[in-house]
Amino acid sequence: MSLSLDSTQLDRYSRHIIMDEVGPEGQQKLLDGSALVVGAGGLGAPVIQYLAAAGVGRIGVVDDDVVERSNLQRQVIHADADVGIPKVESAKKFVERLNPDVTVDAHETRLDTDNVEELVADYDVVVDASDNFPTRYMVNDAARIHDVPVAHGAIYKFEGQVTTLTPDGPCYRCLFREAPEPGTVPDCATTGVLGVLPGTVGCIQATEAVKLLLETGDVLEGRLLFYDAMDMTFETVPYRENPDCPVCGESAIDSIEGIEYSGGCTIAD
Ligand SMILES: [Zn+2]
Repeated sequence: MSLSLDSTQLDRYSRHIIMDEVGPEGQQKLLDGSALVVGAGGLGAPVIQYLAAAGVGRIGVVDDDVVERSNLQRQVIHADADVGIPKVESAKKFVERLNPDVTVDAHETRLDTDNVEELVADYDVVVDASDNFPTRYMVNDAARIHDVPVAHGAIYKFEGQVTTLTPDGPCYRCLFREAPEPGTVPDCATTGVLGVLPGTVGCIQATEAVKLLLETGDVLEGRLLFYDAMDMTFETVPYRENPDCPVCGESAIDSIEGIEYSGGCTIAD
């Protein structure tokens, strides 16, 4: 690996570089690395913020929404003046101000079966900061097919869940084979969410993504972390590969073609 940190970078990343666990080699890995952040909302905001600050060289942001005033209580990369502009544009503006070392690929689109595989395969790591089941299952399936790790996070009112899906570990369908039927799990818009909650959960996802890029530490592979902000408790529950998993099991799919990502996101046997 050729190290090419200039004096500004040695200064910017000095608190990384002085640690044995990162060092100049680790910082170079981050600068050479790429991450796809799915969603530039509550979870995506802190993820984008910290990955950009850490110097992850290329950050893809996928989102098809525009900034609304009701987002600003938690989506901290967007500002009052951004209301009405696409979230990917606001995210790009935020990162450009923070760190000129980082390139943002703004994907102003919704993930679907036609674009997800190509997008996921173009990055070293995916951070699932989405807010809906079809996207979550689509990301899991496409990332597994293309051997890209996923730092997954989800939030509900005062609670969060984080797990990391590596190409060698169990996948999201090993944990929850199918999505709950639409309408059975309410979303943030109907139930509300504590503004700071996605900050905590997104920061854990960003930590996992950075560790994956550095190839260091133990990620949440085969472990589901539960965070309860009301009780202020963290609990970790282990889970295993399911040999019958339709995505990573013995007779696994090699394409998402034909899968209906609606309802239970079911893969037919
Ligand atoms: Zn699986």
